Amino acid sequence: MSFEAFGLPEEIMRAIREMGYENPTPIQQRAMPIVLRGRDVIGSAQTGTGKTAAFALPALAILGEPERLPRALVLEPTRELAAQVEENLVKYGKYLPLNYALLHGGVSIGPQKERLRKGADIVVATPGRLIDLLEQRCLSLENIEYLVLDEVDRMLDMGFIEDVARIVNQCPVKRQTLLFSATIPETIRRLASWALHQPIEINAGSRHTPAETVDHCIYPVDAIQKYDLLTSLLEKEDYKSAIIFTRTKRDADHITDWLIAHNYAVTAMHADRSQKERQQALEGFKSGKFSILVATDIAARGLDIADVSHVINYNVPENPEDYVHRIGRTGRASKEGEAITLFSPEEYSFLLAIERFIEAPIRRELLEGFNYRTAPFMGAAVAAPVSRKRNRTRGERRR
Ligand code: AMP
Repeated sequence: MSFEAFGLPEEIMRAIREMGYENPTPIQQRAMPIVLRGRDVIGSAQTGTGKTAAFALPALAILGEPERLPRALVLEPTRELAAQVEENLVKYGKYLPLNYALLHGGVSIGPQKERLRKGADIVVATPGRLIDLLEQRCLSLENIEYLVLDEVDRMLDMGFIEDVARIVNQCPVKRQTLLFSATIPETIRRLASWALHQPIEINAGSRHTPAETVDHCIYPVDAIQKYDLLTSLLEKEDYKSAIIFTRTKRDADHITDWLIAHNYAVTAMHADRSQKERQQALEGFKSGKFSILVATDIAARGLDIADVSHVINYNVPENPEDYVHRIGRTGRASKEGEAITLFSPEEYSFLLAIERFIEAPIRRELLEGFNYRTAPFMGAAVAAPVSRKRNRTRGERRR
């Protein structure tokens, strides 16, 4: 299937050609014809699948001419995601005369009010700041025709679901609504049955499956040797750019300091850093100024950073879904990626939970030549069910 089949306006086709998109991704193939027919959609899509274009391209095609009134609204859980989606809209809509407003917290509200005064056709917002602006009557949602609730499971985790409901309530009943979520638990299903009208459900990749393009494994090691193993791995691995995830902000800072002391080009991103610092860290990482980004979970979901060759979990994630999301930072848009998790014996129950969740054992690896203090605890892997494909292995190894 090609992009031509969607009948998108030439202005949009030109922009996506310039971005180098040749063919639609599976979620685009499945969702776009339905969205372009005006139907509501509930989509469970993994990160990195091309979900943004799946809702952004139809939005641009449907709105067409500028009216300088908010007619499309996209809700995102985090500032970074909102900024990324707006950036994509601007790129896809480069040859269209539409106007955009990006509304999120952590920055001053004045310029956002000014932007709204000038008129915006498409608003991309995080729920908190949008509610602030609605309360201050800086915008109205009475003309919204196209509503996208993105990463709804994340909004639920972050306690935004009531804000989301309040916002939906202010939109006209007659509208098109799309809801995307990595997982669709009961609460989200209830929200969907209230906010969506006879939605068509689209599944793009099982929520349990790490992206096919990611090769993932764990390195067992005593907790006390994790720093040393980390630097030894960085020396051994041929990484272009790596994200290291840590459980706590403190760990993120300590590892950053440790790597700086070892002359790595590294930056950190977590909730205690200001919006400006987070932005600088992200931009520096994207531009290649820093080859390593150390981050807590705020960076884990949905952020699209091209060419991340390695994801390293300094800790085994406590939440199995986080594992799938984190390793989804690499291997995006069909590029190959490596994901490595450092595992110490205290984390065994988390590891088993992940293996049960993805229904596959994760390959154990030992680093040749590394001076292990004690024989590493490998931890028996969960048995693999026969019916499902295993995580990709590069040759058979002993588990
Ligand atoms: P997303 O899942 O929306 O964050 O997109 C992940 C990455 O895939 C982004 O870098 C997009 O620019 C890219 N992408 C989206 N659609 C396509 C496509 N049809 N062909 C190639 N790359 C794409």
